[in-house]
This record gives sequence, structure tokens and C-alpha cells, in this order.
Amino acid sequence: MENCIFCRIICGQLPSCKIYDDGELIAFMDIGPIVKGHVLVVPKRHYAHLLETPPDVLAKLIVAAQKIAGAQKRALRADGINIMQSNGQAAGQVVEHIHFHVIPRFNADGHHWNWKPHPYIDSGEMQNFADKIKEGLKKAEGA
Ligand code: AMP
Ligand code: ZN
Repeated sequence: MENCIFCRIICGQLPSCKIYDDGELIAFMDIGPIVKGHVLVVPKRHYAHLLETPPDVLAKLIVAAQKIAGAQKRALRADGINIMQSNGQAAGQVVEHIHFHVIPRFNADGHHWNWKPHPYIDSGEMQNFADKIKEGLKKAEGA
């Protein structure tokens, strides 16, 4: 994928500050950290997003993210960790090569997610969404 920034980092065409490489996955420093110490965990093979990524690769990604999180806790003395992952432009995904953000958090680091609830009108509306998602799950199972 010659126009994918992360593929170009992986094949060495673009520089990166790498911290981890197990042959299948790499982790490197995000150049636009939300909080300093922010790391991206990325598979070497190109998959655009979550739904394209094989389950075994996803499992390895989250385990690698756990390792990085542990290192951030130990070495940076992080008080907490956010794991973030976006899929599709509507969700804010900018680089269309799947990645997990592993973000060290510190008491009073000044970062706030703009996490504003948009409540359901009533429990019926919530149930309606739940039923649709359950239908989607059945379709995935081939029922
Ligand atoms: P997302 O919005 O989830 O697609 O996040 C893409 C992330 O990639 C952003 O946090 C960027 O700061 C980061 N990023 C973009 N280009 C580079 C690069 N060359 N090296 C390291 N991080 C990058
Ligand atoms: Zn790529």
C-alpha cells in the first residue's frame, strides 16, 4: 500500500520512533501525542480497520497494547491508560491502517475527552437500537 503512511513507516520509507517489533506487529511513538508518551500499535500487514482485521491479529494487537500500557505505567509512572481505536472517517480515523492508540494518563494531565452523553428519548428507543444490533449479530452468525 504505497500511499499508506503506516505501510511506508513499516517498510522503512518513512522514519518513526519505534519502541517494539515482534515480527508481526510494531509500536512507535505518535507524532501528535494527546499526552506525551502516546504510542501506536500497528500490524505490519495492511488492514484498513477493525472489521477487516483477522481475529488472531486483533488478539495479538490488544496483547501488545497491554505490554506497552504496562511499560508506560512502570517507566513513565502513568496513573492510568487509555486504549483508543477508530474505524472509518465518521469515527475520526485518519490513517486507514488499523492501529490502537495506547495513551498514558496522569492525574491532572489536562486532557479531557469530549464525552457528552446523548440520551435516548425513552427506554423504548434504547430497546429498538438493542433489537437492531441483536438482529445484526444473528446475521453475522448466519442465523
Ligand atoms: P487516527 O485518527 O486514529 O487514524 O490516528 C492517526 C494517528 O497517527 C494520529 O494520532 C497521528 O498523530 C498519527 N500519525 C500520523 N502520521 C504519523 C507518523 N508519520 N508517525 C507517527 N504517528 C503518526
Ligand atoms: Zn498500510
